[in-house]
Amino acid sequence: MSGRPRTIAFAPGERNIFLHLLTACNLACHHCYINREQHGTATLPIEQAERWLALLLAPGKANNLVLLGGEPTLHPDLARAVRTARRLGYASVTIDTNGYLFHNLLDRLAPDEAVLSFSLDGPDEKVNDPLRGEGVFTVCTANIRQAVALGFTVSVIYTVSRRNIDHLHRMAPLLVDLGVSRFFIQVIGLRGNASTGGDALQLTPEEWLAVVPTEAARAAAQGLEVIYPKVFLDADEPFQCAGKVAENYFVFPNGRVYQCPLCEDYPIHSFSIKGDRLVENPGLTEKRFFSLTIPEGCVMHKLLQADNIPYDAHGQPERRISCCLLKNRIPPG
Ligand code: SF4
Ligand code: SF4
Repeated sequence: MSGRPRTIAFAPGERNIFLHLLTACNLACHHCYINREQHGTATLPIEQAERWLALLLAPGKANNLVLLGGEPTLHPDLARAVRTARRLGYASVTIDTNGYLFHNLLDRLAPDEAVLSFSLDGPDEKVNDPLRGEGVFTVCTANIRQAVALGFTVSVIYTVSRRNIDHLHRMAPLLVDLGVSRFFIQVIGLRGNASTGGDALQLTPEEWLAVVPTEAARAAAQGLEVIYPKVFLDADEPFQCAGKVAENYFVFPNGRVYQCPLCEDYPIHSFSIKGDRLVENPGLTEKRFFSLTIPEGCVMHKLLQADNIPYDAHGQPERRISCCLLKNRIPPG
């Protein structure tokens, strides 16, 4: 077995920008979290994306950028956006991709310009493709191999649901073989299709706790850096809402800027970008929820999925739900 999981504390002096360059995608994943009713179908023109990157950068802080979609590699100027972010001073740039790497991305970026984070939801096509689409496993793993061979740092995100939790233990050998260095285990979200899907994808706390921490440690022992959501706080751990103590901005091409990803299905974003200025929104926004203190921990989780919070005979929550942005990390064994 490998090292113990450590909580990755929210770091003051760090700002994380999650910029959705577009909402379009070539796939239609079962658990897709993109909500086009809320966030539109626009693609950010590159000049506008560059102005927003400059606007969102906080001088003097460690600024990390994640470029997302939809599928961000469908954006014809993705490589230019990466380069602009680097020139502006972003400390790291990560591209979250479904693996298709459109527009010959690997030929247009140098390996030290961006980390590539691939989504893969199964250790073979039988598990992955019913969730993400026919043929996706083959394309995604071939492109991971190619990216690793070219010298890119590659991570993989596995979204755990009822449909693939029994196959989590088979991921580490595959990722080691592919040359992946970081393994992100993600919990199926409370957003988009996953929140409304007819066939229950959501896990109970017992299902998550019975499998994920153990499998994360096993994967780390096989040489992967493993990062997974905390989900439940230990009795002695303080609850912290990232909306209050961290700087995360989730930015959509229609100009909405959220601080909490669980709020993204609702028009309660804290900020909007209007005329290339970041403007705080008045009225009932997500910020009002961040300041509420409840025994269950995360207010948004309580509002969106009260059913999976267990209570004792005195009506007290048996476990507190952590902020969805709080992660555990286990170093490679
Ligand atoms: S790859 Fe991402 S954006 Fe595309 S359908 Fe799947 S979850 Fe949605
Ligand atoms: S997930 Fe909960 S705790 Fe985290 S930012 Fe959102 S409301 Fe706050």
